[in-house]
Amino acid sequence: MNKIHNFSAGPCILPQEVYEKSAEAVLNFNGSELSLLEISHRSKDFVAVMDEARAIVKRLMKLGDEYEVLYLGGGASLQFLMVPFNLLKADGGKAAYLDTGTWAAGAIKEAKYLGDVDVVGSSKKDNYAYIPTDYIVGSGYDYFHCTSNNTIYGTQMKEFPEVDTLMACDMSSDIFSRKIDFSKFDLIYAGAQKNMGPAGVTLVVVKKSILGKTGRTIPSYLNYQLHIEKESMLNTPPVFPVYASLLTLQQLEKNGGIAAAEQRNIAKAQLLYDEIDRNPYFETFCRNEDRSLMNVSFKITDESRKSAFDEAWKAAGISGLNGHRSLGGYRASLYNAMPIESVQVLVDVMKNFA
Ligand SMILES: *Cc1c(COP(=O)(O)O)cnc(C)c1O
Repeated sequence: MNKIHNFSAGPCILPQEVYEKSAEAVLNFNGSELSLLEISHRSKDFVAVMDEARAIVKRLMKLGDEYEVLYLGGGASLQFLMVPFNLLKADGGKAAYLDTGTWAAGAIKEAKYLGDVDVVGSSKKDNYAYIPTDYIVGSGYDYFHCTSNNTIYGTQMKEFPEVDTLMACDMSSDIFSRKIDFSKFDLIYAGAQKNMGPAGVTLVVVKKSILGKTGRTIPSYLNYQLHIEKESMLNTPPVFPVYASLLTLQQLEKNGGIAAAEQRNIAKAQLLYDEIDRNPYFETFCRNEDRSLMNVSFKITDESRKSAFDEAWKAAGISGLNGHRSLGGYRASLYNAMPIESVQVLVDVMKNFA
């Protein structure tokens, strides 16, 4: 086990087995005496990786053949643009967005390049301390877009609304971390580097029947339909991140799938939130009912003690605990691969500090 307790928000900790197996594949892939990095993406061995990487997502999410799974470049940030390109009508198109944080706002900005956007709910004026619930999404929209987990502010949507249109969701920072009825969504995307692999690849899960209806000309790389036809090999895919993502998902499946991961994630988050609530030196930024299981953003109540706390957690071998530069404070990211033992180390530091 790593001696460093890595709470980084992304790129972030992955299972130890993934580091070991992917390192091995870089040196000698499948016993071929060739590196994963030097073989053709069209070789039989890599096509098998891509096929299984796509299949395992549907198994884990319990989705049927009406969905397609893609691995694309460009990060979740490119999806901010690809979603409206593929779903927003060319003529008089209009989309509804929920503004729950910096990433949600980023998605809104890109959609506005292509058409009308209504921000149906926003907690921006309260520094994104909660998830708005007082909104309705009617049938006048081409789609509704939300962000399931707000990586910076440490809030998470516990429930998803019933909407009268398509539903697209940025699940970058909590994908595969909890049980969700994924079939409620028409389009899901996630940058791999938060909870399912290394940086460099983005997962897209899309219901085929929603595509091709905008009357818009879509440049090739931005067109989901073309990626589907080419089975995620429209261009050279990021072979290493796809392989390491597959290993991560295989590990998840072996360890009981999403339901078991959710139990572990609840236990970890509970341990840390209980300490924050008990310890007068710490508090969270957000409303209790919207607290994230993945990113615990918190601050110290007595700023004059900050450097003493910083020294204490660094001395305990903790890394990556500083909050996002836009919010300050601290952020403990408790993604799937984070062991509860590391959370206990942090909790012990907080106890001793008090
Ligand atoms: C990190 C993050 C992004 C940005 O991902 P990139 O892959 O770097 O573009 C988008 N949305 C959410 C929720 C994130 O946490």
